[in-house]
Amino acid sequence: MLRATHISHSYDTTQAVKDCTLTVDIAQRVAIIGPSGCGKSTLLRIIAGLESGHTGNIWYHDRDITWLPAHQRGIGLMFQEHALFPHMTVSANVAYGLHGQEKLAIRARVRQLLDLMGITHLADRLPEQLSGGERQRVALARSLAPKPALLLLDEPFAALDRIRRDFLLDELPALLEHERVAAIYVTHDALEACRFAEQIVVMRDGAIIRQDTPQQIYQAPQSAFVATLLGMRTSLALQPHAIGCQTAFGVIPIAPPSTDMRLLIHPEAGIPLGNQPQILLEGRIVASTFRPPWWRLTLQSVDGQATLECDVALPQPPVQGELYEVAVRLQAMSFVMNDV
Ligand code: ADP
Ligand code: MG
Repeated sequence: MLRATHISHSYDTTQAVKDCTLTVDIAQRVAIIGPSGCGKSTLLRIIAGLESGHTGNIWYHDRDITWLPAHQRGIGLMFQEHALFPHMTVSANVAYGLHGQEKLAIRARVRQLLDLMGITHLADRLPEQLSGGERQRVALARSLAPKPALLLLDEPFAALDRIRRDFLLDELPALLEHERVAAIYVTHDALEACRFAEQIVVMRDGAIIRQDTPQQIYQAPQSAFVATLLGMRTSLALQPHAIGCQTAFGVIPIAPPSTDMRLLIHPEAGIPLGNQPQILLEGRIVASTFRPPWWRLTLQSVDGQATLECDVALPQPPVQGELYEVAVRLQAMSFVMNDV
């Protein structure tokens, strides 16, 4: 449905987007993740029609829209900075994109969206009489009102507190499915992206370096860079060994594809799952944080050469400096390129 091919864009001396190719199918949810400054917003703005001077092409419903003005693209936008019209009621804001349509049809569509978003009771309020979360709901309803086939979202909930953000994130995929709207969701928060999207696109320094399902990306990040984005900070240097590989925490009985890779240990490796095989690793507790219901321990290898972060179930708070033996699941380990 949308196909952006070989998109590149520079601002003065910065090349913000490098040869990016991206496709989105009908009603598919795609998330673009990557650290701040990697070019996510620029790529989204190009797709929206809000930038000029880029190279590459954009096809939408089999039509070349590369140089079509934003308002003629029929693509919905929801950016964090897209404010509501302050002098218009909630209903009028939602109706904004429907001008030209029949009055009764407009009223019905506005009512339907307010119902869907659970904000019918706010219909006659002005934006200043709303909370941040309510405002984002109205903005979402406004973007969806004209029934775009594609909605672009750039960190739309970044300014909200976590509870409100969680609430909206849990509802958004179902809402988009109900409306048969495809979406591209830009965020620096990879775990948020995993909840939202069916496909994840990872950007680094302006380029797309990986595209896969959230499950594949999480289970096999393949690179230390992607693992770090997902909050997996333990990757151990390794040496070849007859039954697998040698690490600072001992021998691990799985063989690496090559010895210039690192062994990634997912933080949840310390939580048992079914009867997956485990191996005991010993280290000294150098830090701990309670992340209900688990404790996340940072263990230092006995030789002091490496640290390992993992979650464990403990009946009592851990004691700093003590030796601790953790049973780590082999299936929560994988090998990654050393690219950070
Ligand atoms: P992200 O959304 O991933 O944080 P951006 O697309 O906003 O990244 O920015 C990519 C790069 O382009 C950054 O180095 C940023 O500083 C630069 N950049 C973004 N907007 C502009 C602009 N209007 N003028 C100059 N440089 C810009
Ligand atoms: Mg951005």
